[in-house]
Amino acid sequence: MFESDVADVPQLSSTGLLPGGDEIAELVGLAHARYAEDGAGAVADYIPILAEADPSWFGLSLVGVDGRSASAGDIDVAFSIQSISKAFVFALVCEELGHEAIHDVVGVNNTGLAFNSVVAVELNGGSPMNSMVNAGAIATTALVPAADADERWQRIRDGLSRFAGRPLALDGEVYRSESFSNHRNQALARLLQSYDRLAIDPVEAVDIYTRQCSLAVTAADLAVMGATLAAGGTNPLTGDRVISVETSRDTLALLASCGMYERSGEWLFEIGLPAKSGVSGGIVAIAPGKGAVGTFSPPLDPAGNSVRGQRACAYLSRALGLNLFASAPPASSPDASPTIGVP
Ligand code: GLN
Repeated sequence: MFESDVADVPQLSSTGLLPGGDEIAELVGLAHARYAEDGAGAVADYIPILAEADPSWFGLSLVGVDGRSASAGDIDVAFSIQSISKAFVFALVCEELGHEAIHDVVGVNNTGLAFNSVVAVELNGGSPMNSMVNAGAIATTALVPAADADERWQRIRDGLSRFAGRPLALDGEVYRSESFSNHRNQALARLLQSYDRLAIDPVEAVDIYTRQCSLAVTAADLAVMGATLAAGGTNPLTGDRVISVETSRDTLALLASCGMYERSGEWLFEIGLPAKSGVSGGIVAIAPGKGAVGTFSPPLDPAGNSVRGQRACAYLSRALGLNLFASAPPASSPDASPTIGVP
């Protein structure tokens, strides 16, 4: 679907660095113009406040590991981070507990089922399977080391703020709307508790998870947060080392297999980058060693991934040579194809 959509864009191989500033700005502008009028998809409404989003909102931002950036459209519109928070809370917990523990306690395999699936937990003997679906994310939030709920929430908010390079604030309206309608997440937490798979009280775990999903961000914030993962865990704008190189690597591996829910395989096949989406319409796609794209557009596909965001990422992945799997014969070969940036 997305491959045929960008068949007119030359496929550059994934070597070297991002191109120069003018070229990045031009391609981000072209990606925005190409899909600005594309209204496909439906705005999420199972959390009542999300239904109020304007379907025409569309923001795109790209931040390089060297701190260069380019953006287009509605990059100042704030929205709740939703499931994209799962990627960064996973990173914080993985940093504390380590590679082995996260593998054993939560898991790192895709469920092949929807992000809020109860059946997935049942089918897997009570395992939440991975930190990118709701059950696994609630279990992961419960693992943030803290003496009490306040400390746990502060650690999450501070940690995500360090990824963004600025203090992130809770959107109280989203938090209240989701708190009144999150019965399914409460059921998932109780189910995990019944399997002895939740480290803290289920009511507290869901409340903190709902708070983390309600943090307000912009497309520009998502690009900075993603660029921190692209840069081995150091925020390229503040220079702050938020997580280790190893945790950054582990987070990107998990995003590649599970970040786009049951459509992660298709996303990797089409776009070729670790990424995470959220139901309010955000996507962050990360090109390791190069930078990250943050997109925001509320209309979603049936799996809960922003339609315009996916299309814009497909375009930029191809035009900027970001796809991790796009190689080319070496320059010395008669079959050499164009590469981008400095090898
Ligand atoms: N807070 C949302 C939920 O729990 C997040 C889901 C999402 O973004 N896919 O349903």
